[in-house]
Amino acid sequence: MMFYTLYANDRGELLDDPGLQMLGGSGGKWVTPDPAEMMPLPEGASLVTVPQQRAVGLDGYGKPKLVSNEEAAWTAAALLPQGFTRTLIPAGVEIEDYAGKLPLLGYTAIGFHDGQVYAAALQADEHRKWHPDNFNTEDLPLKIREFRKKYPGNQIYAQLERCATEYSCFTAQNIFYRRWEGGIPTTNVCNARCLGCISEDHIGVLLPQVRLSFHPELEEVCGVGVEHLTKAEDGIISFGQGCEGDPVLNAEFLSGAIRRIRAAAGAGTINMNTNAGHAEGVKKMCAAGLDSIRISIFSCLKHNYNKYHNPRGYDLKEVAESVKIAKEYGCFIALNLLTFPGFTDRESEIEALLTFVRKNPVDMIQFRNLNIDPSQLWRRIDISEEGIGIVNLVNVLETEAPHLRLGSYTPPVGQKI
Ligand code: SF4
Repeated sequence: MMFYTLYANDRGELLDDPGLQMLGGSGGKWVTPDPAEMMPLPEGASLVTVPQQRAVGLDGYGKPKLVSNEEAAWTAAALLPQGFTRTLIPAGVEIEDYAGKLPLLGYTAIGFHDGQVYAAALQADEHRKWHPDNFNTEDLPLKIREFRKKYPGNQIYAQLERCATEYSCFTAQNIFYRRWEGGIPTTNVCNARCLGCISEDHIGVLLPQVRLSFHPELEEVCGVGVEHLTKAEDGIISFGQGCEGDPVLNAEFLSGAIRRIRAAAGAGTINMNTNAGHAEGVKKMCAAGLDSIRISIFSCLKHNYNKYHNPRGYDLKEVAESVKIAKEYGCFIALNLLTFPGFTDRESEIEALLTFVRKNPVDMIQFRNLNIDPSQLWRRIDISEEGIGIVNLVNVLETEAPHLRLGSYTPPVGQKI
């Protein structure tokens, strides 16, 4: 099965070059995709031009070649909907002075076969609840107005209105749709400096979101939490959203909120997305009634963990301790594996990940496409070791850690309404 190169012209039109085979990126090298790494472009994906990157393909002599065309030929890519894991990044030649400045988006390699656009991706979880058709619907503005009218002074609903409309955040919109996983942002400080943080810049790129600037009152947090868990279908409230720092640093305050929410709403799931770099904070929130915890992790190798997360006052050992503590309180534990083709699928990284999940009681691995300019990573992370492929990574995890659930989202674990 052969895939041909797709590219975009200056007018943003998608074109194919039948003389060039598709190339994709894995780590620092270009590869031709294995058919198992490709799938027809998933519903809800969008096609984009990669800024300032010239399109390339493989010629009949097996040599990488720039797409030559009367007008400029730019690298074309897909942005995948949630639930799909990227297997290859786009191949292309960066325009010199733009290197490292790509926006924090999950550019995914695409190719052309049999008249159809294919993406270098695999489906990692069910698509229903996160299908883009379920969001940004016509009735959303009215639903937001209803909440703002009912709770005029609640700062969190004001923030969520911005998140739902400006950032098109699905967990913010779910609060207004009264269903599924809803986000409750509360904290603007963090004890890490992740390279790919979307609300605080650590690498000199434009950010998709602005970090939260207020400290909500307990009443405000409880109001949003109880409203959602008492009325939402399969309700989950999640502390730790893209627009905030890390909620575990706010454990004292949030433990109070969790107790009050749990007392008023017996059903639903209370979840925290965190770097888990504060075991005492995790303990407090679990003791208060947290049901599940999702821990963002780039690598289980200390040196690569530190290079990506730049932790302040904690390390990977404390993250492991947090996992043990959370399990002692019966929490469902997921790793939010920041997945990057050519890095996460290296044998050394896979070995370290398997060791971590064998030593620590993790229930699930969620694959999260890491949205960052590759050159920002390769400037800091040794590039010499090659990956075995994201598809093979998944196969190894299924074989070597069959107890693990693999997917993309936090499942409802609390009681149903
Ligand atoms: S833990 Fe979250 S908020 Fe903190 S730096 Fe990392 S991505 Fe940003």
